[in-house]
Amino acid sequence: MPHVFPHRHLLGIDPLSRDDILFLLDEAEPWIAFGRQARKADQRLAGLTQFNLFFENSTRTLFSFEVAGKRLGAQVANFHPGASSVRKGESLIDTALTLDAMRPDVMVVRHSETGAPHQVAEAVGCPVVNGGDGTGEHPTQALLDALTMRRRKGRIDGLKVAICGDVRHSRVAGSNIRLLPKLGATVRLVGPAALLPADTGGLAAFTDLDEGIAGSDVVMMLRIQRERLEDGVAGSLADFHARYGLTRERLDRLAPDALVMHPGPMNRGVEIEGALADDPRRSAILEQVENGVAVRMAVLDVLTRGRRGAA
Ligand code: ASP
Repeated sequence: MPHVFPHRHLLGIDPLSRDDILFLLDEAEPWIAFGRQARKADQRLAGLTQFNLFFENSTRTLFSFEVAGKRLGAQVANFHPGASSVRKGESLIDTALTLDAMRPDVMVVRHSETGAPHQVAEAVGCPVVNGGDGTGEHPTQALLDALTMRRRKGRIDGLKVAICGDVRHSRVAGSNIRLLPKLGATVRLVGPAALLPADTGGLAAFTDLDEGIAGSDVVMMLRIQRERLEDGVAGSLADFHARYGLTRERLDRLAPDALVMHPGPMNRGVEIEGALADDPRRSAILEQVENGVAVRMAVLDVLTRGRRGAA
């Protein structure tokens, strides 16, 4: 029996079963080869309208969702809050209802407030994808991270993954911490005490980077979320690099095939050494970006199947 994805929205990882996650990864896989063709035109979303509502800055996620929708044939419209009536005091929900009246078939929402995409999903008549909410979740990032690990390491089950840096304020960590254990990976959290979650949910936590990453198959580095921190919490960048920056020297103490990941944007010389990030044998950072388009194509396809009368 083919797996039927039972969810209307993709707002977070908790509602997803292991099979739902594996289904999305399997759906994404062929889009990687598709993306390497010269002609990248599929028509399964032809005639459908996709709205991207990004109330917070983005390079990768917004562009990736736009490219994904266009490669599937959707009409993609990006809402620009800076130039909108949000500036005149229009609320999130009124903005969402206004846009919903234009009858989109899917919306992608990013917002600095945790839970904002969930509020939008309650109010509108189409599937909603969380493109990153405050310090909450970033589900498509965790899916693309899992896809990248599976392709590079051949499995996720049994992998040891260290998530390092500003774990507390990272929605990427928020989704990965939920997703990876569902697929059998062991997650450790590593960072300064002030940047680790108050409640680690039973995950092992380390304040020493070398100790925390020892024995890891994957080291996921995160930037300091300065926009979500009070001044001074992070201390000086040079100190941070000395204690928590991933360098080649540090990575060389792990197995030779230990993989470095980073969701971007990265701060070279802070949480990661630039030359290490640029080494494709050790770092999967640009593969993560490539796989992100594939994952978003799969998500847009799967969530709109009901509207298209597709199975
Ligand atoms: N791009 C990711 C996000 O939006 C990671 C980051 O900003 O650090 O959460």
